[in-house]
Amino acid sequence: MSISTERTELAELGEFGLIQRLSARITLDRPSSVKGIGDDAAVIDPAGLHQVVTTDMLVEGVHFDLGYVPLKHLGYKAVVVNLSDVYAMNATPQHITVSLALSNRFPVEAVDELYEGILLACRTYGVDLVGGDTCASPSGLVISVTAIGAANREEIVYRKGSRVNDLLVVSGDLGGAYMGLQVLEREKAVFQDTNAQPDLDGHDYILERQLKPEARRDIIQLLKQLDVRPTSMIDISDGLASEALHLAHASGNGVVIYDEKLPIDPTTYRTAREFDLDPSTCALNGGEDYELLFTVALSDLEKIKGNPDLSIIGHMTDKEGGHQLVDKQGGLHALRAQGWDAFLRSGS
Ligand code: ADP
Ligand code: MG
Repeated sequence: MSISTERTELAELGEFGLIQRLSARITLDRPSSVKGIGDDAAVIDPAGLHQVVTTDMLVEGVHFDLGYVPLKHLGYKAVVVNLSDVYAMNATPQHITVSLALSNRFPVEAVDELYEGILLACRTYGVDLVGGDTCASPSGLVISVTAIGAANREEIVYRKGSRVNDLLVVSGDLGGAYMGLQVLEREKAVFQDTNAQPDLDGHDYILERQLKPEARRDIIQLLKQLDVRPTSMIDISDGLASEALHLAHASGNGVVIYDEKLPIDPTTYRTAREFDLDPSTCALNGGEDYELLFTVALSDLEKIKGNPDLSIIGHMTDKEGGHQLVDKQGGLHALRAQGWDAFLRSGS
């Protein structure tokens, strides 16, 4: 943990002192934030819009390792993963609440650092922090963020809604966050064995993908500008294959993905090779990319074709078409979710 040299015990401040200290740093900027921290509950004005609500919990030792994740990054990521879910509904995130379980291992300064990341994400994405909860934990750190967003009823996009022949589109590139994690885990193991300083050179992009992911607000805005409304949408937290299957199942469709169309950054590609991994497998099953995966009507092809931020990677078929991956030689394989299963592997 990279914290300042000062160490103030949590017990010195107490729960109320800590909440007071946090709330002193928080401003409310949205007109819909009627009441934030300081009462029994926050008050939000939906202004006639539909509200979308989502929660994600991050548990030390399960979802993150403070051996290589700075607290500021952790705070930022804890917010961003929730905002990504709101954007995946084609809604605008407006408010968050943050709940923390803290052991006395953490001084007040560590909480300050965590909130630096949380508040940076709030400013970056224009959301107000309107409440939370704080309690003690016997050992580790647990951070749970709830995000609340809003949209006109007809704007909301569900996982369900794709039709046969709709194009399957993904934003950005895939597999980077997973390869970033592999590099961090490798360097941690080397450090434990030999005390050698980590060699992270040349891996900046994928480390950033893992440690400081962004939610694709820009893609939601781009689609509005292009006048394209996705027929179904999901964000990629568990891996492309898993999320594509979710879209297909929700709509009762089949899906085809073309290996050669998968967007993979050169750094991701090179690092996968270095680790003797297949870059396509990393793109299909590596988690935590927080890109958007969505379907659009075939008639929208001209509007999205050639956009550097969007890749058309396949299409929806009828249910009988099944779930297929077409390899670079044209061979067919069953598309399987081998990604991050919350109970099989350390992450979700
Ligand atoms: P209660 O006992 O009614 O649950 P709390 O003492 O837990 O109230 O919280 C007091 C206020 O501080 C509430 O507005 C709550 O939303 C806010 N709050 C508590 N913990 C946090 C936190 N970790 N981050 C932001 N706001 C918090
Ligand atoms: Mg409380």
